[in-house]
Amino acid sequence: METVGHLVIVAGGKGTRLSALVGDIPKALVPVGGKPVLQHQLELAVGAGVRSATIFAGFLADQIAAFVGDGSRFGMRIDVRVEDEPLGNAGAVLQSLDTLPPRFFVMYGDVMMAVDLARMAQAHHSAGAAFTAFVHPNDHPFDSDLVEADAQGRVTQLHNAPHAPDRIYANLVNAALYVVERDALRSFARPGKQDFTKDVMPCLIACGAKVLAYRSADYIKDMGTPERLARVEADLKNGKIDLAASGKLRAAVFLDRDGTLNVEKGFLASAEGLELLPGVGAALKALRQAGYSLVVITNQPVIARGEASEDDVAAIHRRLEWDLGKEGAYLDAVYLCPHHPDKGFPGERPELKIACDCRKPGTAMVEQACRDLALDPRLSWMIGDQTRDIELARRAGLRSVVVRTGTGGSDGRYSATPDFIADDLSAAARLILEQKKAAA
Ligand SMILES: [Zn+2]
Repeated sequence: METVGHLVIVAGGKGTRLSALVGDIPKALVPVGGKPVLQHQLELAVGAGVRSATIFAGFLADQIAAFVGDGSRFGMRIDVRVEDEPLGNAGAVLQSLDTLPPRFFVMYGDVMMAVDLARMAQAHHSAGAAFTAFVHPNDHPFDSDLVEADAQGRVTQLHNAPHAPDRIYANLVNAALYVVERDALRSFARPGKQDFTKDVMPCLIACGAKVLAYRSADYIKDMGTPERLARVEADLKNGKIDLAASGKLRAAVFLDRDGTLNVEKGFLASAEGLELLPGVGAALKALRQAGYSLVVITNQPVIARGEASEDDVAAIHRRLEWDLGKEGAYLDAVYLCPHHPDKGFPGERPELKIACDCRKPGTAMVEQACRDLALDPRLSWMIGDQTRDIELARRAGLRSVVVRTGTGGSDGRYSATPDFIADDLSAAARLILEQKKAAA
């Protein structure tokens, strides 16, 4: 397993917006659960095999230096460098490349996280990436800096907020945690202010360097305002930040799409036709709040039959994520099967006319999601409106709820019986939460 042994923390932030709350201390020393966020970061890194760190400090750098010392009490070597003038979040790092090892993590000093760093490093290595950015969906994509990635996870474009009101993007937010190949940044080593998202990433993408979007359901949230800090504190208290999360698997609710999340309208071929069922946003929020990852698993034979392109379906899913975002909900991922086994449709695509193992009730999409997002099927559920969803749940070892919306489980294709029946997604979510409570 390839590891990354060095960590760079950009901790120049003044914490002005937090000063009324915590007094005159640098953001990195703001306590979360009684411990500076910087200490949480260092402990996380040590747990992932990181043995040295460079901290770029500015405002009240002496406090940071005094706090970390030489790093030995955290089990690592730490070097604190002082920025005399603010150089953006990347400037000081780029000017110090010669003193940094060939590969390192970069994090900002005001971000609370419980990320499996070793797993992220492995993804960076397997992809042969020059630069890997941790990305995840959030509940306010419309005012977040967004990343556009292709099916292999390679970043193709960045869309920084604010976004034009008529645009709809995938809900993929840059969370400001990176794995960096030092030598890919050589051309940026010049004086002056620079920023990872505004300068470095766009240039790397433009010159063809491999920038990977590492999508994960691990916890990561900035705490740079009093409201955000309060949320992070609450998350820690409610057990949503599992500081020993590395290598642990989490619970998910797998969701069918048409007839479960949105109104069933035959075969949906364009984004305009997407209409969320009532209460879906609130139901997903409640499941999220209880700690479930949320993953859509959908058969899209429209692609094989030539009735919609991959781009059309991607546009439907951007719209789905965007509309859910307006209700404060988000999905961790959407998996689709583009195949269809039967030939004979005009305009069909022969290469997709195959018997695959991803088409529900095949389990390949669930298995892939479990690998990608570190999910445990034994802790997880499937909600759908068709018997193939129930059969999928049976085969994949998930508990299942059939909803009475859409087909309502009356298609008669498979004889598997669901564990529960619910009127709609809201009722299904309540039921899952009751079961969780009863088991606790
Ligand atoms: Zn398939």
